[in-house]
Amino acid sequence: MLNRRQFIQNSMVVSAGLSISNPLLKLLFQNDYQMEMLRNNVGIFTERGGTIAYMITKEGIVVVDSQFPAQANHLIEEIQKKSDRKIDLLVNTHHHGDHTAGNIAFKGLVNKVMAHENSLKNQKRSAEGQGSLDNQLLPDTTYSNGMIKEKVGGERVALHYFGPGHTDGDSFVHFENANIVHTGDLLFNRRVPYIDKSAGANITNWQVVLEKAYNTFDTNTLFVFGHAGDGYEVKGNREDLLAFQNYLGKVMEFVKKGQAAGKTKEQLAEATEIPGAPQWKGGQTRAVNAAWMELFGE
Ligand SMILES: [Zn+2]
Ligand SMILES: [Zn+2]
Repeated sequence: MLNRRQFIQNSMVVSAGLSISNPLLKLLFQNDYQMEMLRNNVGIFTERGGTIAYMITKEGIVVVDSQFPAQANHLIEEIQKKSDRKIDLLVNTHHHGDHTAGNIAFKGLVNKVMAHENSLKNQKRSAEGQGSLDNQLLPDTTYSNGMIKEKVGGERVALHYFGPGHTDGDSFVHFENANIVHTGDLLFNRRVPYIDKSAGANITNWQVVLEKAYNTFDTNTLFVFGHAGDGYEVKGNREDLLAFQNYLGKVMEFVKKGQAAGKTKEQLAEATEIPGAPQWKGGQTRAVNAAWMELFGE
């Protein structure tokens, strides 16, 4: 019996030179996970949900975000192949299920779970709403303003809070020695963002948050993004912060001007591109609705 990885590898050999047009193969590839080492033993794991960052060394193991339980288990298996050490630290960039539902897979395997205090509050509230509190592993260490820092092995992991943006509880997570920052969903790379008004999102302040991040980190910082649009990567540099900041500003401008010109929210929500930010392609409904709510209420 071939396991799935061997099957995929064999299939790749068989289909070498052909495009992957077989829908079954496509599905297999889409469900498979990828791990990529960036630098200083810090890498990224992608499968389904928000990008995970991890650090694996003899002296310490850190995981940032956890996707869903099946995906978290894939990562845990990979970690356990490399080390029998207990995982030192799990960080959540924010509470959304595609970043925290996999926390539960780390139960008993991790020493500390960190997040902003609003991320904990939001995670608890949504789980209570869905009756799924038993399936959560909640953060046990939180902070309110500014920064919290944890030393793991030779690395220092700092969580920075610059106020509400994508939710009211998003952290930038900085591996200081590696100089790698996980932005969580504070950056959707060329992809129309989810803006969670029900969890305190604020588009106006989000632009300030990105500015603060731009000034806190530097030109050598490597950024890991929660999500990216088709054809774009879940990693990048400081300039991507400004590009996304520009997009958010243009969304607000588009809705403000549209309303002043007598357009309804529904009419504006039909937009498939925001003037001045063409790289964020596709349906703009969720961004337009959030901007409208922020500017004019319901
Ligand atoms: Zn996400
Ligand atoms: Zn999110």
